[in-house]
Amino acid sequence: MSVKDRITQWVRPEVQALSAYHVADAAGLIKLDAMENPFDFPAALKAELGADLRDAAINRYPDPDAGAIRAALRELYSLPDAVDMLFGNGSDEIIQILAMAVAGPGRTILSVEPSFVMYKMIATFIGAEYVGVPLNDEFQIDAQATLDAIKRHQPALVFIAQPNNPTGNLFDDETLRQIVAASPGLVVIDEAYTAFTDADYMSWASEYDNVVIMRTFSKVGLAGLRFGMLFGPQEWIEQLNKVRLPYNINCLTQNAVLTAIRHFPEFVKQTEALREQRSWLNAQLGEVAGVTVYPSEANFILVRLDPSAKSVFNEMKKRGVLIKLLDGGHPKLAGCLRLTVGGREENEAMLKALIESLEAVRG
Ligand SMILES: *Cc1c(COP(=O)(O)O)cnc(C)c1O
Repeated sequence: MSVKDRITQWVRPEVQALSAYHVADAAGLIKLDAMENPFDFPAALKAELGADLRDAAINRYPDPDAGAIRAALRELYSLPDAVDMLFGNGSDEIIQILAMAVAGPGRTILSVEPSFVMYKMIATFIGAEYVGVPLNDEFQIDAQATLDAIKRHQPALVFIAQPNNPTGNLFDDETLRQIVAASPGLVVIDEAYTAFTDADYMSWASEYDNVVIMRTFSKVGLAGLRFGMLFGPQEWIEQLNKVRLPYNINCLTQNAVLTAIRHFPEFVKQTEALREQRSWLNAQLGEVAGVTVYPSEANFILVRLDPSAKSVFNEMKKRGVLIKLLDGGHPKLAGCLRLTVGGREENEAMLKALIESLEAVRG
């Protein structure tokens, strides 16, 4: 039997049909494709981080509950006692844990589209049905269609990214409350971009018994650490914890996260600088002919172009700037690019590359 035959026979057909999550090669390019924080740590913080990592007991298994982080986060986010937490190797792992906990024949995971692609991918990994309800042309939730879909499909899980990726906007509270009320299962509010917006849904985790709040340190400036957080009612967290692998947060990550929490004001300073850069970039993009700019509450800006987005993307790459091509990913994103907000110099370089590329494509 050939390898090909074995794979055809044994790898689940839905997995065979998937393409792996694509990460673009950014070597030598200004990297503005993945919502990373462009700022480096101050030297003193680096020295402290070095010492904290040196002291990690890497011969021992890590604390399975990450107890020190729990205590630090309870204070950082002023969590009420009723709200418990669970950590993941990035929030991607938390999405997987949530999906595994509800998986089974006939189970549905629902989200809106376009949104974060991992919701659908992970639903596919675990063999759940996935339902994506289209957003309207302003990228807002179509309340009626979404409530109808919830009623019809009775989803075990509903994922809402707030603000949404890749569109950057916030959905309105009233619609979200209707979704929570209509949902028979758990509603996950994914606040990956909480650092870049004043909107904050943490209180919903104690107000409702079927809402959990997901956050991550990735977009704040620690994407390399892989640390995601889920906050919610103790009863839900207890069940989810059974599916979590016991030592999923390694001791180097635990120590680094603690260092980061101690210096959280530094990250707040950086994310505030990025919010200012977002306003600047938004205003500049508004001046460029043939570019529609969508309002953003995150550290990226969605734009729609008149000429071919794919050609502009390639021209920008030739000019040394990597951004995210969304055209081709979802019908509602035809002509769209996603621009991560960087530091001022990177943003200027990106803007220049965009303007030159638009001219090159128009000929
Ligand atoms: C980036 C992102 C995540 C994933 O974050 P990690 O913690 O890096 O896995 C989750 N949700 C949304 C909406 C994101 O944009």
